[in-house]
Amino acid sequence: MMNSITLVCLLLCTGVSSFRFEELTQYVNSHEEEFIETLRQWIAVESDSSDVTKRPDLHRMMDMTAEKLRLVGGSVEMVDVGTQALPNGSSLALPKVVTARFGEDPSKRTVCVYGHVDVQPAKKEDGWATDPYELTDIDGNLYGRGASDNKAPVLAWIHTVEVYKALNIDLPVNVKFIIEGMEETGSNGLDDMIVAQKDSFFSDVDYIIISDCVWLSRRPALTYGTRGNCYFFAEVEGPKKDLHSGVYGGTVMEPMTDLISILGADLLRQLKTLHISSETHGNTCFSPSWLHQVDLLAHRWRHPTVSIHGIEGAFSSPGTKTVIPAKVIAKFSIRQVPNMDPAVVEKQVTDYLHSVFAKRKSPNKLNITMVIGAKPWLADPKHPLYEAGKAAVKRVFAVEPDLIREGGTIPIARTFQDVTGKSIIMLPIGGFDDGLHSQNEKISRYNYMEGTKLFIAYLHEVSQIKKY
Ligand SMILES: [Zn+2]
Repeated sequence: MMNSITLVCLLLCTGVSSFRFEELTQYVNSHEEEFIETLRQWIAVESDSSDVTKRPDLHRMMDMTAEKLRLVGGSVEMVDVGTQALPNGSSLALPKVVTARFGEDPSKRTVCVYGHVDVQPAKKEDGWATDPYELTDIDGNLYGRGASDNKAPVLAWIHTVEVYKALNIDLPVNVKFIIEGMEETGSNGLDDMIVAQKDSFFSDVDYIIISDCVWLSRRPALTYGTRGNCYFFAEVEGPKKDLHSGVYGGTVMEPMTDLISILGADLLRQLKTLHISSETHGNTCFSPSWLHQVDLLAHRWRHPTVSIHGIEGAFSSPGTKTVIPAKVIAKFSIRQVPNMDPAVVEKQVTDYLHSVFAKRKSPNKLNITMVIGAKPWLADPKHPLYEAGKAAVKRVFAVEPDLIREGGTIPIARTFQDVTGKSIIMLPIGGFDDGLHSQNEKISRYNYMEGTKLFIAYLHEVSQIKKY
């Protein structure tokens, strides 16, 4: 009797024998084609959240996500997060947020996986080699819009739960999901939902896991920081309608000329006064060509930057059109680094552009609006969550992970942190060359399958974190 109790205790205490990792990974290997088929079905849905005409597809995508989670045994809810106001004054239903729960054992830790199933716009004529909404396997790479951002990682998480269940192995932790459909346009409705469910859905959550980013190299990575983003519209409005450039050119202050004059080098120079982070220092250079690696990473992770994305109202079709546009709107954004406050940035940028504009003494009207104000996020890479990440990477890939930060923005990370107070880890499985938001986005079979194994191992490692 004594002996068997000692043995059981040994098994439980070491925790080694109870983790049937080989069986679990074997299951992944033997179900690769099935997992890819599901991804194919998801990629086929044009869940572009920025295009309101695609909203029915987006609703369908949320339904499919809920259905998949139900199929693997989750308690699923579709949470109504209200409507979106459109510029023409009408409103449109936001896609519901899908939540799911697997297990409620109070003796276990509870993780919450966040992901999104909406995508950036994509058209074949943008320069895709294949139909963006038809998953295409070329040399082990699976091409399709949303493949890496973020449909395959979301599926890899769902498959992780599925694999445990299929083999009748208890999940080592309770797992919750929160999957949204508006990430690419600013997660409309999600902040309010997180606040509303802080003491319900999130009350028993210990950790939040986000797999919405990519590795830096061929080596797996753990991400412990992201930049924020302030997105601005600068609108210059002049004559009541477009003017003939032969009749009016030279006699009016053109809105486009005004707009161009307030953008460009002056705005970049102004940005240097925005270096208010204790972390950032030195000169900011906007041409990465001569920077060596350390500088390059510092510029991607730790320095703010400004990008001009486009000018609405400008003539952009092929051919010639001799018109003076009556109203033009520049779109630009400033990536935020730790200790920058979007509210301060908004005021500085608005004041500065108005001061530059005033000097032109133009009769036109300038209007600056900040439409996105997302704070940066930074975690402690020595937190047990990251130690668990390192152990999982070592188990699956037999290497130490890169500890990296992300130049891009995942605003919801900061919201999760501020509202729920929970610790967050970003655990990417996408490759560095996946081309998120770009033409020919892909995820490799390797990253999709080994990434699923990484998640399987990660749940086990998190269950080993001592409760305190
Ligand atoms: Zn994403």
